[in-house]
Amino acid sequence: MPVIHTHCCIAGGGPAGMVLGYLLARAGVPVVVLEKHADFLRDFRGDTVHPSTLRVLDDIGLLAAFDQLPQQKVDHLGMRFGTRLQPAIDFRGLKPFAYMALVPQWDFLDFIASQGRRRYAHFDLRMRHAATALIEEGGRVCGVRVRAPEGEFDIRAEVVIACDGRHSTLRSAAGLTATDYGAPMDVMWFRLPREATDPDDTFASFSEGHMMVLLNRGDYWQAAFVVPKGSDADWRAGPLGVLRTAIEKLAPFFHGRLQVLTAWEEVKTLEVRVDRLARWTRPGLLLIGDAAHAMSPIGGVGINLAIQDAVAASNLLAPTLRAGGPIDEALLRRVQSRREAPTRLIQALQLQVQQRLISRALAHSAKPIEVPGLLRWLLQFRAVRNLPARLVGYGFRAERVQTQAMTPVP
Ligand SMILES: Cc1cc2nc3c(=O)[nH]c(=O)nc-3n(C[C@H](O)[C@H](O)[C@H](O)COP(=O)(O)OP(=O)(O)OC[C@H]3O[C@@H](n4cnc5c(N)ncnc54)[C@H](O)[C@@H]3O)c2cc1C
Repeated sequence: MPVIHTHCCIAGGGPAGMVLGYLLARAGVPVVVLEKHADFLRDFRGDTVHPSTLRVLDDIGLLAAFDQLPQQKVDHLGMRFGTRLQPAIDFRGLKPFAYMALVPQWDFLDFIASQGRRRYAHFDLRMRHAATALIEEGGRVCGVRVRAPEGEFDIRAEVVIACDGRHSTLRSAAGLTATDYGAPMDVMWFRLPREATDPDDTFASFSEGHMMVLLNRGDYWQAAFVVPKGSDADWRAGPLGVLRTAIEKLAPFFHGRLQVLTAWEEVKTLEVRVDRLARWTRPGLLLIGDAAHAMSPIGGVGINLAIQDAVAASNLLAPTLRAGGPIDEALLRRVQSRREAPTRLIQALQLQVQQRLISRALAHSAKPIEVPGLLRWLLQFRAVRNLPARLVGYGFRAERVQTQAMTPVP
């Protein structure tokens, strides 16, 4: 079995793995990032680049280049009840970034990959390479087995960092089990045409028993139609017309345009999970991002939280890794200590929204849900709308990049 040696092996090229790989390589740490797919063009897993991530990009000098990517800058979000639009979240006035960027995740990951490859020789990204098992010696993880197009081989590293998402192979291999906190919904995901007379806003819309989020992607709408968990097969057993009728009720401006949805195959269903590991480490192994804590789509925070984990891991581990180790488990546990509280708080808020808003909105017997009068009154003030924006935009313990770039950035 061929063997490759590196200082850090990252399994998973999602937001957590790619940003961590970039940050470590930038700090002078030899790193191999394994991504099992051939490209980043896969199911939707979030498009929202929040101010916390914009600040990280600014810290590492990538913001100007990131700004060149096609994107929508969203500075406020609303909820629609019938024809009434309720302003809810307002980034305007927040510092240093008063917007979030909507960028397809594959563009974002391609961007990090190309910047990493161009700038840092230590950034070794291997596509179509899947981590299949952990290699352990003396009770310590010391590498991973890899399946690649050219065959199987081993990577040996001072530390393995599992960023392989909520169905993490390495989490199972390590015998770690996450506590499932439950989610009442899954999401149907599809595109709809956008016309000049449509609203400009990105918004959530509610009607009796239904809910949908529409993301303005410029020339089309990305729709996230929320359905009760486990109801996917029932929907698909029925005619597509039922979905069209529900969409038109949620967003009447689609009237006459929904024949573009011709078959259920055009509608993907994405499973929503909220879970968290009690222990994010084993000797030689650290788990971050969804591998440690799967996030609900509520607030669009999952990518950003995964990136915050990556920044904390890089800040804490890069100095020792650059020197070649050793990395003891106590140091890995410091990453969990730093990131666990913000994760718990955000997940607790997501669970509240799931229970109080989503479950009620999806209950078929429900009357159309309404924002309570007092909250509606309060939400007319921008300072009040800034509070949820600050919460989802910057989170509870915003991480800043503390490592120095080892090679000059052109
Ligand atoms: C329906 C839905 C909508 C969402 N919407 C948003 C949103 O709008 N904004 C937001 O911020 N978050 C959103 N989220 C959450 C967000 O997608 C996740 O929290 C985020 O993607 C986590 O990033 P990650 O890097 O930890 O994992 P992932 O994004 O899951 O990345 C894991 C990567 O590892 C790769 N991989 C898996 N196994 C292996 C292996 N064995 N070897 C090598 N590679 C492997 C995968 O191919 C993948 O590229 C949403 C989630 C859902 C379910």
